[in-house]
Amino acid sequence: MAAAAPEVFAPAQASASPRVTYDVIVVGAGYAGITAARELRLKGYQVLVLEARNRIGGRTWTDTFAGQQIELGGTWVELTQPHVGAELKRYGIPLVADAAPERTFFPTPSGPAEFTPDEGFTRMGATYERIFEGSQQYFERPFEPLYRADLLAGIDNLSLRARLNQMSLTPEQELLVNGQTAVYSGGSSSNGALTMLAQWWALSGWNNDGWNETMKYRMSTGTVGLLNAMLNESQPTVRLNSPVAQIALSGTTYHVTTTAGVTASAKGVVLAVPVNVWQTIKFTPSLPAAQTTAASQGIGVRTGTKLWIHAQSPQGRFYAQGAEGGSPITMMIPDKVTSSGGMLYSAFSTDPNFDPTNTAQISAAVSQLGANVNILGVKSQRWGSDAYSRGGWAFRKPGQLTNLYPNVQQPGSRLAFASGDIANGWSGYIDGAIESGLRAAQQIATMI
Ligand SMILES: Cc1cc2nc3c(=O)[nH]c(=O)nc-3n(C[C@H](O)[C@H](O)[C@H](O)COP(=O)(O)OP(=O)(O)OC[C@H]3O[C@@H](n4cnc5c(N)ncnc54)[C@H](O)[C@@H]3O)c2cc1C
Repeated sequence: MAAAAPEVFAPAQASASPRVTYDVIVVGAGYAGITAARELRLKGYQVLVLEARNRIGGRTWTDTFAGQQIELGGTWVELTQPHVGAELKRYGIPLVADAAPERTFFPTPSGPAEFTPDEGFTRMGATYERIFEGSQQYFERPFEPLYRADLLAGIDNLSLRARLNQMSLTPEQELLVNGQTAVYSGGSSSNGALTMLAQWWALSGWNNDGWNETMKYRMSTGTVGLLNAMLNESQPTVRLNSPVAQIALSGTTYHVTTTAGVTASAKGVVLAVPVNVWQTIKFTPSLPAAQTTAASQGIGVRTGTKLWIHAQSPQGRFYAQGAEGGSPITMMIPDKVTSSGGMLYSAFSTDPNFDPTNTAQISAAVSQLGANVNILGVKSQRWGSDAYSRGGWAFRKPGQLTNLYPNVQQPGSRLAFASGDIANGWSGYIDGAIESGLRAAQQIATMI
């Protein structure tokens, strides 16, 4: 579905005397912010969205490469993810399924080895089933993560590394999963909480088939298509190229000032920038305690990089996974065949020393995974060094679920917090960003 462009304009294109007073200012035009803006507009409020970048979408970014539509950030969604599923139905946006890999490479104690896809993913899933034993109890209700806070008390402090060590896995089993546990955690399985990945597993139905489905379907329009549909329906005012530097409450009015010194005012603010960015904005009064702690700890992985590799490969449509501490590319996923006869692959790295623009480094990294590529081109996005995300996907650290939730979702004075980083359900996913945008819109509407 091709949505017409909403009114999106940069300050330079705004009229000489644009409105400066709104009911609500939404800071950030990612999925969380645009959801909140849509909801508030449909309740009849005047809404201004201030976005730092020259585009909407934030950590989703639909682009083109080698003649194909690609996503440089968040990509895969499912109709069973309740919030994004409802939005896709609302706007009639179909999903398309990725073609399955025909070959897989996984690390083994004697180096990378080829498995049939069925064998490779089944073996990995069997190991995950052991690692997440007990999650049906401690995540009895996966969308209410603290429902069994009593059980989580003894588990939330465990890192994925601690859990892997606890399991007495064979070297073969450990190598089947530690590349994934490390990459999701931002490079080291010691950084990420067991309960983060276990919650995703629980949300996937506590089984491997459900887990594998989470990386299968994408929006036919690209992720930007759904955002455009939301904006088109609700028509908030969106100002691009407007990084917010200060958010100050004076009486019952918020004054929101950009780095260029332009100020707009409103009765309430929805802060919809990544948690890792909260520290870069000056708040008066200061953020509440839970948000201050979250801002200093961060939630998005600091080193997340996504690459697109256009290549010819004798292995064709292959999926490859590395070991923790091995190849700087830890996951490589086949995508489309291009008109030049090459293949597009998406790949993930969390190695800060890896240069995702250097084809020699990429070729060497792929060889370490057990495959070979003749690279025709690359495109990449280092989310960790991006000033407006300061990290990639959300992945909670040990203890963050029980220590930060649910206070981190509670609003301050006329200030609500929307971010996929702090969702109840699919935190770290587009679905979670929509969930948090819906909640923040409701919260702010009761305060202004
Ligand atoms: C590489 C990668 C792969 C992913 N894969 C998937 C996937 O397959 N499926 C899935 O569902 N999810 C995936 N995710 C996660 C998903 O993309 C995010 O959870 C979701 O997009 C977060 O939305 P958000 O609105 O909370 O934050 P963001 O998308 O980060 O939006 C925040 C917005 O705030 C803006 N901003 C920042 N600072 C300022 C400022 N000072 N002033 C004004 N604006 C500001 C930013 O520019 C941005 O537009 C992935 C993420 C990454 C990085």
